[in-house]
Amino acid sequence: MAQPGRLRSTVGTAGVARGGLHGHAVDRWSSRGGEGAWTYGSHMRTYSGSCHCGRVRFEIDAELDHVRVCDCSFCAKRGALVHRVPPERFRMLSEWSELSLYEWNTKTAKHYFCKTCGVFPFHRPRTAPELWGINVRCLEGVDASAIPIKYVHGSRLS
Ligand SMILES: [Zn+2]
Repeated sequence: MAQPGRLRSTVGTAGVARGGLHGHAVDRWSSRGGEGAWTYGSHMRTYSGSCHCGRVRFEIDAELDHVRVCDCSFCAKRGALVHRVPPERFRMLSEWSELSLYEWNTKTAKHYFCKTCGVFPFHRPRTAPELWGINVRCLEGVDASAIPIKYVHGSRLS
């Protein structure tokens, strides 16, 4: 059974920085009316994602109420905006052989890259390896700059 409430409960809203960003998520989504496939709740919808060359394609069901920006040594250079989804809301549409895997330090996190274009579409997070951390910049029709940022401190993990 899917657990739509579980991710929400682990994220909450306390750490989401809304200041300085455009409007409120609720207003933006409701004004889009009818775009995409809606599931679970009023803000949950299906997004298509891909790398740059298109060899890696995937879909997620998500409510993009925030993106995560991590300050660990890897994320600081990668620069991705990440939103986590549970495995039942992630669908890989390409062959896994299109991807390379990068691991470092504890090797718990699994960072996947397109073998051809080098773009990072998703990873398994170290602090929640059962989830998928999606690079929101790879999703179609999403203005990543308009989503509230949640700053996380991977640099504090040893
Ligand atoms: Zn590619």
